[in-house]
Amino acid sequence: VTAAVPRSVTAELVYADGGFRAGWVLELAPEGRIRRAGPGRGAEAVFRDAALVPGFVNAHSHAFQRVLRGRTARAGAAPDFWSWRAAMYAAANALDADALYEVSRAAFAEMVAAGYTAVGEFHYLHRDPDGQPYPDPHTLAERVVRAALDAGLRIALLDAFYERAGVDADDLAPEQRRFRGPDGGVDAFLSGVEEFAERWRGEPRVTVGVAAHSVRAVRPESLRALAAWSARSGRPLHLHLDEQRREVEDCVRTYGCRPGELAARCGVWTAYATAVHATHADGDELDAIARGRSRICVCPTTEADLGDGIAPASEIARRGIPLCLGSDSQARIDPFEEMRRLEQHERLRLERRDALGAAVSRRGPGAYLIDVATEGGASSLGVPAGALGPGRWADWVVVDLDHPVLAGADAETLAETLALAADPRVVRETWVGGVRVFPRAGPASGSHP
Ligand SMILES: [Zn+2]
Repeated sequence: VTAAVPRSVTAELVYADGGFRAGWVLELAPEGRIRRAGPGRGAEAVFRDAALVPGFVNAHSHAFQRVLRGRTARAGAAPDFWSWRAAMYAAANALDADALYEVSRAAFAEMVAAGYTAVGEFHYLHRDPDGQPYPDPHTLAERVVRAALDAGLRIALLDAFYERAGVDADDLAPEQRRFRGPDGGVDAFLSGVEEFAERWRGEPRVTVGVAAHSVRAVRPESLRALAAWSARSGRPLHLHLDEQRREVEDCVRTYGCRPGELAARCGVWTAYATAVHATHADGDELDAIARGRSRICVCPTTEADLGDGIAPASEIARRGIPLCLGSDSQARIDPFEEMRRLEQHERLRLERRDALGAAVSRRGPGAYLIDVATEGGASSLGVPAGALGPGRWADWVVVDLDHPVLAGADAETLAETLALAADPRVVRETWVGGVRVFPRAGPASGSHP
């Protein structure tokens, strides 16, 4: 299905340069990029009683974990992170390629309906349920990418390297057999990533990067190889970091330093790198991440669901480390809730109202949180989206200004209202590459004269 991209669009309010502007027109190129943005009069598509916000970017997702929702929450089912992880492994091992496509597509459809336009899929399911390689080693990655495209979502597939069960293990545990990449270690893995990236080169909605699962699951010499490849190719590298205190303790015991420091020694912290969680990171680790001009992705709904702890968001932001957000385990799929929790977890932790957005951004918490949830994620994934400006993909959310949740909001207060008080009910439409992807049927709300 190819839908025509309108030549120009406008709405009552358009989010640009950290605020909502009236009389703002976006001119689009036929391939779905924004050509020009600025004051103007009239447009081919006019969204009435609506505001356009850049599409939200979900910088950290494991789509298949959507099957766990509700199932690990019953009394005694998974009292801590590690027993939750055992349940997650059981779910992962039960999915064949078709089932993985179905659950991924359902998760991605939920994302599109919630206002996400791009996802960073941290993908570590590689082998078949018996642990044997598929004839095409990217069979499962291929299905996940197809699921995203079929749901209408832009995707950065972050192919994840995973080689051992823990810092003192030589190999994976039996229940981790599907996480193993191709035979031949990290070099064979990276050749495979390059082949997969080449396969998708002509599809602008798909980009490919890498992930190192964690310092637990990847040896230092492999971390070094992944980081060097990322820096050389300019492709993103994501790494789970300091989600659980036990990871920090294991790392200190084995290597004599904390995970962020070990990653620094391996050259991980470059402008292409993103640490996921950093829940228990200390000041020295954050300094190393800041020196490398790397990023941190916080996943507040998942961290709350798993009882991980609260990321030191204002210590991160004060160092100038760009933040982004992810739905991670899909306990919730709601970019508004991620924004609100990022800010309000910090208020609860520090017992003050100006904990994060108001303290680090002169534009106020609303614009700060929207930028984290849009531009922050797009930069982490290396995707030119996340802002409604020239050269970016035409990815946006049509926010329903008629919705009761937004009653009383105006250009001055809409950013704070969206970031701190809204939810996906205000998402009237979602557009990716200048094409409406949610809702799927019926006419678009923009009037076409
Ligand atoms: Zn994760």
